[in-house]
Amino acid sequence: MVQESTSNSLFAFEALESNVRSYSRTFPVVFRKAAGAILEDENGFEFIDFLSGAGALNYGHNDPDFLSEAKKYMELNGIIHGLDMATSAKREFMTCFEATILRPRGLTYKFQFPGPTGANAVEAALKLARKATGRQTIISFTNGFHGVSLGALAVTGNKYYRNAAGIPLNYTVFMPYDRYFGVDYDTSEYIERVLADASSGVDMPAAIILETVQGEGGINTASKNWLQSLERLCRKNCILLIIDDIQAGCGRTGSFFSFEFANLSPDIIVLSKSLSGCGLPLSLLLLKPELDVWRPGEHNGTFRGNNLALVTGTAALRKYWANEKLSETVMEAARILRERLQKVAQSNGDHNLSVRGRGMMLGLDCNTGRLAEKIARRAFEDGLVVERCGAEHQVIKLLPPLTIDEQTLQRGLDILDRSVNASA
Ligand SMILES: *Cc1c(COP(=O)(O)O)cnc(C)c1O
Repeated sequence: MVQESTSNSLFAFEALESNVRSYSRTFPVVFRKAAGAILEDENGFEFIDFLSGAGALNYGHNDPDFLSEAKKYMELNGIIHGLDMATSAKREFMTCFEATILRPRGLTYKFQFPGPTGANAVEAALKLARKATGRQTIISFTNGFHGVSLGALAVTGNKYYRNAAGIPLNYTVFMPYDRYFGVDYDTSEYIERVLADASSGVDMPAAIILETVQGEGGINTASKNWLQSLERLCRKNCILLIIDDIQAGCGRTGSFFSFEFANLSPDIIVLSKSLSGCGLPLSLLLLKPELDVWRPGEHNGTFRGNNLALVTGTAALRKYWANEKLSETVMEAARILRERLQKVAQSNGDHNLSVRGRGMMLGLDCNTGRLAEKIARRAFEDGLVVERCGAEHQVIKLLPPLTIDEQTLQRGLDILDRSVNASA
């Protein structure tokens, strides 16, 4: 018998939930409520949320406008589950996305709704790339993260996740990401060389998949020049360019898509995390029309195009993407965040801390996992939820809601500042 739980007791989780649980270990309280950038535990203690569901809550928790759309929809008996049947909610979402996001950017894509997770969408993208090109290999990058189902895991670098697969993860070639060897070595030249060399041992790939900012891999950013070189390489060799914008997209770096600053025209774009606006599962592939070589039902799934998530996703597009306001807010908040982090890094000069990232996807590189852990743990005790990333978990990742007010942002940064000072 599991004992009745008392406030903030993790007993039921330890007794009943698998060892695989992770965030409940890092943040050992029981959360009960949330609004905007604030999480509340069962004792009524409030935390500032700089994790934002690992990027799934770019507009904060429980946006009242999105939730009221969802409530209205449910009160009218709107379709919740419809496989991939045509529904009014899906039509609204597609036409709104086309008008708000694609058309103003001069982009033309077809929509594919796979199962609702990011990994589902990555699997669909890789399968489609192989089918469309008739090639087998995918090029992915050092420190890249694309999900933990077998196909997505095969293009993910992290050894801890890969080791759990239990079978070989193949048909992938890993290449060095931008600045993997430092600023003086352009790794796109290396890729160009091996693809041009018939004896390099590297097969011509179906696709190159990448994140413009590596979220789980340590907030490594790809430069405009490097991204454009890769795109040229793709065009020259008929390789498809897949941008995994699951974490960096939906406004996180300032623009809706993270690659807009480099003027890329990806063949396939993968979105999920913040797409529904309120943390409901939803994912989407945008594919160039000529790539739509699927036969009907060839790639299916029970939960394609989660209708309630489409309703809230449409509400998010209408509220935040009809004009440039959110992008401007993000750029301003990003400036505050970066300046403040740089001060934190400088005031602890002996630890050689550094700031990395783009827009509101920033990292404080602590060089060692031990120091980063100390800082993050201390911050949590003081009321700030913040996650670590990178191969050694050495980078503190800052993903506050894009909609956070300046005062709460500064309060969160005050906590981080104190934690760094106390831990260094
Ligand atoms: C989170 C993430 C995924 C996987 O999404 P899931 O919903 O966890 O399967 C894939 N790619 C990137 C870049 C991500 O951040």
